[in-house]
Amino acid sequence: MPADEGSLRARIAARPGGGEALREAAEARAQRVARYNAGLCICDDENGSAGCPKHDPVEDEYTLETRPWRTLVEIRTIDLRRGRFYVELPGWISDEPIVLDLNVLTDEQVASALRQDGRLHARVNTGAEHAGDLTFSDWEP
Ligand SMILES: [Zn+2]
Repeated sequence: MPADEGSLRARIAARPGGGEALREAAEARAQRVARYNAGLCICDDENGSAGCPKHDPVEDEYTLETRPWRTLVEIRTIDLRRGRFYVELPGWISDEPIVLDLNVLTDEQVASALRQDGRLHARVNTGAEHAGDLTFSDWEP
């Protein structure tokens, strides 16, 4: 497997202190999910933020694991032969690489903006724990 198809997690784990950083990231995520599910504040700043169950309660079907957020999507590798591409989400760490079918880019403008090491935006449920649970929608070039 080429290095750039490996997971972000594997690359972080290979760094000095990487294992500890991963444990801390997993712990922070678990605490955030628990606070969200308990209806407690999850804001990063004291002014409140969209989607916080305390400051911006929403009555919808979402959990923190399924709620979509507008997210920066970093394009890593484009595999035209297999019809797929690999992406990373800043600050989101998983055991598995994130692999998407090129067919998800149905918008012509978005598809033509796809470049190796480029960036797109999409609405992504970044509270998901596993790469296979991520959903991408509303792509923007
Ligand atoms: Zn809040």
